[in-house]
Amino acid sequence: MNWISNYVRPKINSLFSRREVPENLWTKCDECGTMLFHRELRDNLNVCTNCGHHMYIAPRARFDALFDGGIFTEVTVPKPIEDPLRFRDQKRYPDRLKAAQKSSGEAEAMLVAEGEIHRTPVVAAAQDFGFMAGSMGMAVGNAIIAAAERAVALHRPLILFSAAGGARMQEGILSLMQMPRTTVAVEMLKEAGLPYVVVLTHPTTGGVTASYAMLGDVQIAEPGALICFAGPRVIEQTIRETLPEGFQRAEYLLDHGMLDRVTPRGELRDELATILRMLTGQGPIVHGELPAPVVAEVAIAPAPEAQPEDAK
Ligand SMILES: [Zn+2]
Repeated sequence: MNWISNYVRPKINSLFSRREVPENLWTKCDECGTMLFHRELRDNLNVCTNCGHHMYIAPRARFDALFDGGIFTEVTVPKPIEDPLRFRDQKRYPDRLKAAQKSSGEAEAMLVAEGEIHRTPVVAAAQDFGFMAGSMGMAVGNAIIAAAERAVALHRPLILFSAAGGARMQEGILSLMQMPRTTVAVEMLKEAGLPYVVVLTHPTTGGVTASYAMLGDVQIAEPGALICFAGPRVIEQTIRETLPEGFQRAEYLLDHGMLDRVTPRGELRDELATILRMLTGQGPIVHGELPAPVVAEVAIAPAPEAQPEDAK
C-alpha cells in the first residue's frame, strides 16, 4: 500500500462522505427497544448504552477502536476470485458480490491490518457479518492465510475476530476447502511460536466454528454472542426437546468450558494487550498518556465507509 491510496484517497473520500447525514439518526436496540442516537451508539462501539447489548460493528470501525490512535495499515490480501462455479440462485453470484461490495465499501468479508495495541505490535483480521453474512469463501481463506503469513514474517501475534453465517454456498466445495486451508495457516503460527487469539463475535456459526474460530490459544467471546455449528432451532427440531435458556450463547459456553473469557467490547483493547504481552514475555501495559505513534512508520487508516445501519 502506498501513500496515495492509504492517506490521500481516504482524506478526499472523507471530505465528501462525512458531510452526508445518516438516513436514520436513531437505532433501536433489538434487545431492550431503547432508541439510541447514532453518535452516542458509535462512541460506545455499537453497544447499547441502556442494556449492554452488543450490536454489529464493521471491521474498520473495530480496528479504529482497537489500535493505538486508530492507526493501522491494511495488509494486502489476494483479490477475490469471481464466481468459479458460475453459481446462480434468484440472483447471479457476481451480482450478489457487487451488491455486498457496494453496501459495505469492502472488497470481501475479511479485513486484515497490522498496528499496535498499547504499544504491542500485532496483526489482526476481522470478519464482516455485513458482507454476505460474513460467509467463508476462497477470499476469506486467502485473507486468513495472508494474515498468518504476515504475522510470521513480522514475528507478531495474530488476533482474529470471527463473525459468520457459515461457508459461502455459492462457492460449493471450494468454500469447504477453506476449513483445512485455514487450519494449516493457524498451524504456521503455532510452529513459529506465535500466539493466536480468537475473539468470537455474534454470530459465529457453521464451518467457521468448525475450523479457525475454535483453534485459538486463547478463546474470547463478546457478551451474548451466538457461537455454534448448527443453530439452536435446527437442534430443537431434530431432537424435539426444548433447549436450556442461553444455549450456545457466550456465557453458557464459558460455563461449560468452551471459552476462556467473555469480554465486553469496550474492554477488549486492554484485555488483548494484557494477554498478548503475557504470552510474549513483555511487561504490563502502561495506562495513561503515551507518546503519539510514529506516523512515518504506519499509514493513516482509511475512513470507515460502512454504517452500522447496514447491519442485519
Ligand atoms: Zn438495549
